[in-house]
Amino acid sequence: MLPSDGLTLQDFVAGAPRNALPTTTENSTTNATSGLKTFSIRTYGCQMNVNDTDIVRSLLYQDGWTESTVDPTAKHNDDSSAPPTVVLTNTCAIREGAERKVWQRLQNLRAQKTKTRNLNKKHKLKSNHYHQQQRTHQIVGVLGCMAERLQADLLQEGLADVVVGPDAYRDLPRLLNQQLEMLQESTANRTAFSDSSSDPYAAAMNVELSLDETYADITPIRSPSTISNLPDVSAFVSIQRGCSNRCSFCIVPFTRGQERSRPLQSILDEVRQLHFEQGVKEVTLLGQNVNSYHDTSDDARAAQPESPYRMSNTGFRSRIRRQDAGYFFADLLEQVSDLSSELRVRFTSPHPKDYPPELLHLMAERPNICNHLHMPAQSGSTSVLKRMKRGYSRDAYLELMNTVRDILPDVALSSDFIAGFCDETEEEHKDTLSLLEQVRYDQAFLFAYSMRGKTHAHRTMQDNVPEDVKQRRLRELIDTFQHHVHQKNVDQEIGRLRLVLVEGQSKRSQDMWSGRTDQNKRILFPVDGVDDNILCRSDECFQLYQQDDVPLRSEAWRQQVLQAGDYAVVQVTEAKGHTLRGKLLCRTTLTNFGRSGLSGVDGASLERADRFKKWFHEVEGTVLPLSDNSPAKVLKRQML
Ligand code: SF4
Repeated sequence: MLPSDGLTLQDFVAGAPRNALPTTTENSTTNATSGLKTFSIRTYGCQMNVNDTDIVRSLLYQDGWTESTVDPTAKHNDDSSAPPTVVLTNTCAIREGAERKVWQRLQNLRAQKTKTRNLNKKHKLKSNHYHQQQRTHQIVGVLGCMAERLQADLLQEGLADVVVGPDAYRDLPRLLNQQLEMLQESTANRTAFSDSSSDPYAAAMNVELSLDETYADITPIRSPSTISNLPDVSAFVSIQRGCSNRCSFCIVPFTRGQERSRPLQSILDEVRQLHFEQGVKEVTLLGQNVNSYHDTSDDARAAQPESPYRMSNTGFRSRIRRQDAGYFFADLLEQVSDLSSELRVRFTSPHPKDYPPELLHLMAERPNICNHLHMPAQSGSTSVLKRMKRGYSRDAYLELMNTVRDILPDVALSSDFIAGFCDETEEEHKDTLSLLEQVRYDQAFLFAYSMRGKTHAHRTMQDNVPEDVKQRRLRELIDTFQHHVHQKNVDQEIGRLRLVLVEGQSKRSQDMWSGRTDQNKRILFPVDGVDDNILCRSDECFQLYQQDDVPLRSEAWRQQVLQAGDYAVVQVTEAKGHTLRGKLLCRTTLTNFGRSGLSGVDGASLERADRFKKWFHEVEGTVLPLSDNSPAKVLKRQML
């Protein structure tokens, strides 16, 4: 159900102009069931899942469903809070811990249904107690990786009425409508809710994996909870699905299918809409192996018949044989960054094998491609990497880190690591600790190994590192990472000037702005003392905006105070773990800051630097004089 705050469906559309709504198209249900077409959806897991939920929402809206904000697990006693007919859960199967949360929710939903059914029987509830009837027959749907992994088991356990895998969401409206008609029939006849077809799962399950499904033509619709009257600052754009690497510990190839990429033009169209029509300032290109992107459509191969595929460095191996034609990730990234110099571009989640030099040089040349690379190592031990089937050694990985830092000296690096993989010895664990010390990552995602069914490790290895040892090793990885990230930020960030995309006020303090640096580091800086002084008055700046066709919100734009979606120059003053604090110097544009060459320059050394003077002259107009003791004024006074 849409909130009653004046918002319309239009406000939930991501990637579509505000006046171009998905309209309700052919509705395959009967009028009798149309009043029951309400759903709610909860998402677990990664950003890909969040994006998939937006695709599911779009498909259901098009089929005439409305989304309910009523919590289906809460108690409802009045007519105004009718629970949704369909309760969907988009699931994650990557680790046991992620699945445990979903099990808990599904068990709660099942218990709730049973309890209501028993109560209804006891009080001989008649059909006019509609909500309780609806709750009794609530349709529970499981989507995503657990649906693909467990399939009919979920139906047999009575934990789901509908099970749909990640490549079959186009079939979801049909399956739900079928369930709805069955529900309607059983309610009318006061009979048990059952499927009488010969195939017990035909009306309830579609877990077909696809070799080509990319949902390229579906416009995702954002969650109502993220809606505000302000334009979104950033958005995710799915460019690639599935994985063909088959690392021995990973279930993704079994739950998400083979790797395939969305045509380049449809990605550019979506990014164009997000930036020019919705005012989005930052897009993150999303994929299971995002930098393995390869558009092999006829158009792509015709446009680029000779585009040789190159891996990162020698020492990396791929089990995928690629044809030398079409668009690769560097081609896509270049074209997305060409769309506007005021649009920041990020990407996740990549594989270290697909960082060819041309990709790294492109990143070095473009101020609007963020200076952050995710480099999931998984282990620092060559023998563990071999058992994991990662396709590289510790030495090859470290050589790649050297290449990366030669080309992108100011880059921030993040990684994933697994503690306690099969047969991992103390020596091998120490190799991972030493890799963390050597690379000094800026961000790390660290987990204890949990064996997943169907994987190569499950078929051929023993999950033989005791749980307490795994937890101790995980603790050591976390401690090592935290020590180094704090020290690195103290050593390398304090004093530097960073371009920050302002995301809004900090959740913890109304007195602080919150944003992210180019390096993907969260930074907080005070609102106090600079609020309405940070105006942008430069005609040059204004013209740049116009040239790039960035929509000007209105003439009043010039007069606005700093707000979400602005770029600001912030000098780092403090590091707390991996969160930074800083002071605001001025509002600017991505283009101007890129031209200044000041990214990462130590502000303290700027007092005598000609470069900073030159930059201040160039962009002086973008800075309204601040109060006398503002950091920018102090800095400027010291310089002159
Ligand atoms: Fe899983 Fe390996 Fe594919 Fe990443 S590259 S999704 S770890 S199989």
